[in-house]
Amino acid sequence: MQVPASFEFERAESVGHALELLERYGPEARLVAGGHSLIPMMKLRLAQPDALIDINGLAELSHLAVAGDTLVIGALVRHAALLADPDVGRYFPIFHEAERVIADPVVRNRGTVGGSLCQADPSEDLSAAFAAVRADAVIAGPGGSRTVSIRDFHVGPYETVVEPGEILTELRVPIRPGAGSAYVKVERRVGDWPVAAAGAYLRLGPGGVIAEAGLGLTAVGAEHFTAPEAEAYLIGKEPGEAVLREAGRIAAESCEPQADQRGPVDYKRHLAGELTFRALSRAAARADGSQS
Ligand SMILES: Cc1cc2nc3c(=O)[nH]c(=O)nc-3n(C[C@H](O)[C@H](O)[C@H](O)COP(=O)(O)OP(=O)(O)OC[C@H]3O[C@@H](n4cnc5c(N)ncnc54)[C@H](O)[C@@H]3O)c2cc1C
Repeated sequence: MQVPASFEFERAESVGHALELLERYGPEARLVAGGHSLIPMMKLRLAQPDALIDINGLAELSHLAVAGDTLVIGALVRHAALLADPDVGRYFPIFHEAERVIADPVVRNRGTVGGSLCQADPSEDLSAAFAAVRADAVIAGPGGSRTVSIRDFHVGPYETVVEPGEILTELRVPIRPGAGSAYVKVERRVGDWPVAAAGAYLRLGPGGVIAEAGLGLTAVGAEHFTAPEAEAYLIGKEPGEAVLREAGRIAAESCEPQADQRGPVDYKRHLAGELTFRALSRAAARADGSQS
């Protein structure tokens, strides 16, 4: 049986209290949210924190609401809550489509948005979805709060800009009229991590040309989970098939997939291009109102 090394356990009563506990226990303390990533790592002794600070009781991190022209998602929002929320589905189908294919109901009922982003697994689905819609991440620390673009949030595999004494508190996503989004994933079996996946966000301007484009790719070695050259290529063009295919090709070229048990490099690169094209096609149809 795999058993974690011993650790102290504290239950935070507020974000302020959690920050105090992080300061008291120092850099070897870890927050625990859903625990679906951290606890297995502790059982395998890949993580051996001195102290676990449980943030599960913090209602102030569990909010999910539209505030003016922004969708605000608390870090402790569970996958299942994001999947069930009608406003999320209406404004950002990309999140519903990503959540439907993340793990299984057991993981989705407990796992959190913040835990997923902070784990920063290079195959994580929500990182790609949030990158596509250009979310901002709000991080609380001893000196107050700071806001970071999600595109600057991931430093590398399993590494983010959240410092040891800090807490990711919420994600903010701008809601824009005339926008559409979608997420497409290939997995080996239902509930598995992606072989590859792509998210797309398009906003159409006057004349039906693309005014804003966001791409998110995961499991294919895309830097910061995105493809800026392909995004830049799309601006000012009509979203016809040839244009969207070319964007997929550019996105695939910018990726650095690794061969592993899920497939060889060529296959993953092919998927990066094809899934980008499919996500863009669906996002475009949603942006022009021809698909819900
Ligand atoms: C069987 C299985 C299948 C899965 N399949 C998929 C999949 O297909 N796609 C996918 O994307 N994911 C998948 N996952 C991952 C799953 O989505 C994540 O494990 C989980 O949701 C992470 O969230 P958590 O709340 O459990 O994080 P935890 O395990 O509690 O925490 C993860 C890390 O984040 C830190 N942390 C948590 N919250 C915060 C915060 N607010 N501020 C700062 N740091 C924080 C913790 O200290 C820890 O280092 C799968 C997991 C399992 C177990």
